[in-house]
Amino acid sequence: MRHIAIIGSGPAGYYTAEAAQKHWGDDVKVDIFDMLPVPYGLIRTGVAPDHQSIKAVSRRYEQTALSDNVRFVGNVAVGEDVSIAELQSLYDAVVLATGAPNDKPAGIPGEGAENVFGSASFVGWYNGHPQFAKLAPDLSVGTAVVIGNGNVALDVARILAKTTAEFTGSDIVGHALHALEASHIDHVVILGRRGPHQIAMTPKELGELAHLSRGCPRVDPADLPPREDDALLEPGQRKSVDHLRSFAVIPEDFRCDKPVEIEFDFFASPLRIVEQDGRVRAVEVERTRLDEQGRAVGTGETYQIPCGLVVTCIGYKTSPIAGVPFEEAAGRFANHEGRIVPGLYCVGWARRGPSGTIGTNRPDGFGVIERIAEDIGSGGGKQGRPGFDALAQARKLDVVTFRDWKKIEEAEAGRAREGAPREKFTDVAEMIAARETP
Ligand SMILES: Cc1cc2nc3c(=O)[nH]c(=O)nc-3n(C[C@H](O)[C@H](O)[C@H](O)COP(=O)(O)OP(=O)(O)OC[C@H]3O[C@@H](n4cnc5c(N)ncnc54)[C@H](O)[C@@H]3O)c2cc1C
Repeated sequence: MRHIAIIGSGPAGYYTAEAAQKHWGDDVKVDIFDMLPVPYGLIRTGVAPDHQSIKAVSRRYEQTALSDNVRFVGNVAVGEDVSIAELQSLYDAVVLATGAPNDKPAGIPGEGAENVFGSASFVGWYNGHPQFAKLAPDLSVGTAVVIGNGNVALDVARILAKTTAEFTGSDIVGHALHALEASHIDHVVILGRRGPHQIAMTPKELGELAHLSRGCPRVDPADLPPREDDALLEPGQRKSVDHLRSFAVIPEDFRCDKPVEIEFDFFASPLRIVEQDGRVRAVEVERTRLDEQGRAVGTGETYQIPCGLVVTCIGYKTSPIAGVPFEEAAGRFANHEGRIVPGLYCVGWARRGPSGTIGTNRPDGFGVIERIAEDIGSGGGKQGRPGFDALAQARKLDVVTFRDWKKIEEAEAGRAREGAPREKFTDVAEMIAARETP
């Protein structure tokens, strides 16, 4: 029997468990740890609340979770409640699937001003992550600047522009819905250092902007490269650029008959956050151009975008864990094809950094199981579950099981707004109390 501990119950964690089952069948036992009492990582707290069809991938993880040889060990923070060294002494392999939960800093002065947030916290706020539920961003301001040219920036811009009716069927948490209902934001600027051909935005997400009941997207035609250059793009990227072309209107001719203008400001590099009395008042920006290598270089021309809210969507970093080699620049664990050292591995965003879609984590999981199989061979045989259970008991850890999670899930469904799949608990104590629901 092999005993595997997976730290993190997001996509990478569950795909790795699925791969272990496929590889060893009944000859493996997998414990999936999570610091939260609820599973699925960014499927719950990252993927946009109005994209329920994407969140439905968790049903697939549930099949894995309900198998006899896989169990969920929730409410246990590895590195705090139990150390990596302890898990390594108990399990034949320990796999870090801890994601990349920390915002990469923009590295510009004024970043710490009030009402400037990284996307991990802002997205965590509207998605009910217990760490960020109390964020309380001030939405009584006119203009919001969203820094970044990926799908997370689009998620944030779209959420800021949507009406209450457009959130029907979503699981946006009540506190965020109420704040958005009272929002005064009528202008969202999406800032990108490079141009339309360099975006990391996918066609579906861009296309949604055209159908918002309150929002008009706008691109300055002067920012668009000659149309014939689109032929050089990958098909998906070309579709995205087609959407941007369909949003093109010269600024003087722009008439938005809806209350929220969503402006794409390309070739614009943020220089600093301008603050007054500790609060953001503007973003100072330098116009850029592309050099021969496609890098953004400053032109020396600067301007300010007056605004009252800034959300940076420029990438994430993994949290280091004591004793585990870390690549600071890349913000992930140091590894070779998922192996940190024999016995200790990483997958998903903790291995690759924050890139790819949910599905990209699946081959990662299968790859790491191959590494583990190479290292364990026909060996294995550490204590596994009984060893951890003894440690948890001695340490009085309040472990949340998958059965407990199903109770929490039921309680969340039971208190949902009309038409919504759930109203999430946003507090760990509330989640834990909900498992007692009869
Ligand atoms: C805002 C946002 C929107 C996205 N939208 C989409 C989308 O629409 N479509 C798509 O395909 N992809 C989307 N993605 C990408 C997708 O969410 C990721 O590819 C995927 O979640 C990465 O999986 P992971 O398992 O590596 O990490 P995560 O999903 O982050 O899971 C990590 C888990 O580890 C746990 N953990 C962390 N540290 C510890 C510890 N010390 N002890 C115990 N547990 C710990 C966390 O609580 C978490 O549950 C989005 C990402 C973001 C940020």
